[in-house]
Amino acid sequence: RAKKIPTTNFEFFAPEIEEQTTWRLHMIRRLRNDFMARKLELWFQPQVDLSSENVIGMEGLLRWPDGNGGYISPAEFVPLAEYSGLIVDIGYWVVEESCRRLQELAKLGYSKLRVAVNVSIPQFRDPQFVDSIKQLVTKAGISPNLLELEITESVVMDEPQIVIDALTDLKQHGFTIAIDDFGTGFSSMSYLQKLPLDRLKVDRSFVAEIRPGETAFIAETIVTLGTKLGLTTIAEGIEKREQASFMIKLGCDEAQGYLFGKPMPFTQLVEFLAERETA
Ligand code: C2E
Ligand code: MG
Ligand code: MG
Ligand code: MG
Repeated sequence: RAKKIPTTNFEFFAPEIEEQTTWRLHMIRRLRNDFMARKLELWFQPQVDLSSENVIGMEGLLRWPDGNGGYISPAEFVPLAEYSGLIVDIGYWVVEESCRRLQELAKLGYSKLRVAVNVSIPQFRDPQFVDSIKQLVTKAGISPNLLELEITESVVMDEPQIVIDALTDLKQHGFTIAIDDFGTGFSSMSYLQKLPLDRLKVDRSFVAEIRPGETAFIAETIVTLGTKLGLTTIAEGIEKREQASFMIKLGCDEAQGYLFGKPMPFTQLVEFLAERETA
């Protein structure tokens, strides 16, 4: 439906477009350099069982130091990494780093905790993806069921067959699969049944709608759907006690959110675990 833009209009907008493009290319170059220099970090956010609040695992989340003591948000740089294709190599590093941390956790006695990593579409388009992921866990001596792969609805809708085939293979090999940010994309119900899913993550926008005395019927409907599909349901973005109690009442199994723990560097996670019960 895109209309052809008349040349005159295009020329009018050109300086701004050029500026954006230059900026993007600059950021991509910086990202590539920092990634090669091993400056990216993988932080971990705890996931808990809702009724016991025992830690059951964590999600690995990328952090890019800005050189001034702060961090550039993954919401900003992951799209650049996807656009440039860098996410393929960064994604392998994320899996490698997760395996290394899982080994360290096992040595500390936390042998049941799992790590979930986010996977985006360019990674699935890499024909070596499935084999490489299998090799990385084998090399690390990690049980594949401790590594969970998170995909969003848009990943499925972009390349349904490639994604279904890859995930089916990985699932047979023992990996677990989660559908992330559920409810924010447009997934077809038929794909939902074709995917070898273990876990459904209720997007935090629906959790945020929970107010005392009000019904949050989308959250409720999503939990019901997940449960009927035989999946473990996990609520994202739990910040308040009442949101946790509400999700328990809906029958939601697990949670991830600031109430239980923010994303943190690995050393901090180890301290966090030492102070808490784990499953
Ligand atoms: P996501 O996979 O949905 O990750 C959850 C995001 O929600 C994280 O943001 C986390 O910090 C945030 N969050 C968790 N609990 C709460 C809460 O209680 N309140 C609020 N306000 N936020 C909460 P983060 O770390 O900024 O990551 C943003 C997104 O970047 C991720 O969303 C994911 O889509 C992407 N991303 C991060 N790491 C990777 C990666 O290694 N690979 C890929 N492909 N994408 C990644
Ligand atoms: Mg995620
Ligand atoms: Mg999410
Ligand atoms: Mg989200």
